[in-house]
Amino acid sequence: MRWLWSTCIVATGVFLSSTVFCQTAGNDEARGKDWWAHVQALANDSMRGRITGSEDYLRAAAYVVDHFKSYGLQPAGVDGGFYQPVKFDVQRVLADKSSMSLVVGGKEQAVTLGTDAVLGARSAQVDHVDAPLVFIGYGLHLPEAKYDDFDSSAVPWSSLKGKIVVFINGGPSDLPGPLKSYARTAPFAKALRDAGAIGSITIPTPKSMDFGWQRVASGASQPGMRLAATSDAATVAAKHPALADDHGAMFSATFNPAEAEKLFAGTGHTFAEILALADAQKPLPRFPLDKNVRATIVGEHSTVESPNIVAKLEGSDPTLKSEYVIVSAHLDHLGVGAPIHGKTIYNGVMDDASGVASVLETAKAFSQAKTRPKRSMLFVIFTAEEKGLLGSRYFAGHPTVPENAIKADLNLDMFMPLFPLKKLHVQGLEQSTLAIDAKKVGEQHHIVVAGDPEPDRNSFIRTDQYSFVQAGIPALAFKFGWEAGSPEYKAWRGWLAERYHSTADDLSQPVDLVAAAQFNSFYYDLARTVADDPAAQHYLDTSFFRRFEK
Ligand SMILES: [Zn+2]
Repeated sequence: MRWLWSTCIVATGVFLSSTVFCQTAGNDEARGKDWWAHVQALANDSMRGRITGSEDYLRAAAYVVDHFKSYGLQPAGVDGGFYQPVKFDVQRVLADKSSMSLVVGGKEQAVTLGTDAVLGARSAQVDHVDAPLVFIGYGLHLPEAKYDDFDSSAVPWSSLKGKIVVFINGGPSDLPGPLKSYARTAPFAKALRDAGAIGSITIPTPKSMDFGWQRVASGASQPGMRLAATSDAATVAAKHPALADDHGAMFSATFNPAEAEKLFAGTGHTFAEILALADAQKPLPRFPLDKNVRATIVGEHSTVESPNIVAKLEGSDPTLKSEYVIVSAHLDHLGVGAPIHGKTIYNGVMDDASGVASVLETAKAFSQAKTRPKRSMLFVIFTAEEKGLLGSRYFAGHPTVPENAIKADLNLDMFMPLFPLKKLHVQGLEQSTLAIDAKKVGEQHHIVVAGDPEPDRNSFIRTDQYSFVQAGIPALAFKFGWEAGSPEYKAWRGWLAERYHSTADDLSQPVDLVAAAQFNSFYYDLARTVADDPAAQHYLDTSFFRRFEK
């Protein structure tokens, strides 16, 4: 951001401790270092990757709570504290004790786990399965958009009972990106169950993969988690069907696209032909694969508890202070796991110590402001994002403030300050009135605020703001933007390929501290603008997600 005097005037009132703070690049440098100090504290090796449920996560959480306290924020978790404990069922799939094969005409052909495919651990797995495979194209069930891969003339809905569906990532070009992403969440699980299918195999397209198959394979040893079934899970599901998280045991696996011809052999179709159509976002044929998958899955099961962290700053307006604006990020990462480059600690610097550090700096700025915002602020740090947005899903279903009082969420997950800040790519921008404030504040900071240029990466459903979307609360998530083909674009794709969910997302990577500080200024100003906006935020009439508003 090119720092503006007009925003300086706002900000100097905000940061009492440094009245000249925005007048020179030197101040951005100093504030960048303050931000980086949090990142270093949260993502050094002694934090051992902050995996959900671990002592390491709790140590990092204590750091966050200590800072919220030092900023004078009020606890807003449960029982008068900062924490909101969340219970999880844990499933670790033991690949070396499990097996999978394809059965064609009575002949069994081994599938090598790790090389050809990996078994899913996130949803409850079955112990054993032997069932026919059917290819259902993109696997999108969107009756609202009059589109349904689960019901075609070649493979009608009624034929899916007892089958395992096989599908490929992506979708036809005439469906909006966020809608295709939405179809990957609750509607997919519901369609599987309603059609009587007993499992699914995903084939990622090489184009849609952020990193190579090797990293998918090493990630499969991670324990999977889901929200523990609680007595009120049904109540939450009834109120917000999109937040429901338990669909019973199902077979699930991901197939290596480089080995996927095995699935299509003998059908008259090739995977290469399907992939070419998918890359061009064209309609896909649906057809039986004329073979069974046979699998035996051995897993270990346990339970674990891990807290979200919630802090509050009360607003100043007698009426609006009963409403809340949330700024949020996730603290958990992948812990200690399969070695990459000889290193086993997954530090999670960008993912998402960077976002937590920005929430801390934002909380500090609010606490030092001369005037409090009109609405109350809630600073929420989530657990179990890496396990499927579970901490935020739990919070959205069990908020620690009255649910109707939450008016917006502004989430950070890997906002990626790798290069100078000129542009932001914002998830959810097309959906709600939050876009108006985001674009206005962007203009003040000379930042272009744009939508997601790569919807097929499904980023819309891969960060915690999506839990709020599912609960009908306007929400945005932010990443540094780029122009296609630019050096910034290369830096972004290079980061995904080399560092994303790798041990190389560590403190030795190059980071633009000045750009991070400038982003934090934008983020603070946006949160402040939303909190002071006389108008309440809402989904647009044109947004598909308006239906979730209560
Ligand atoms: Zn992650």
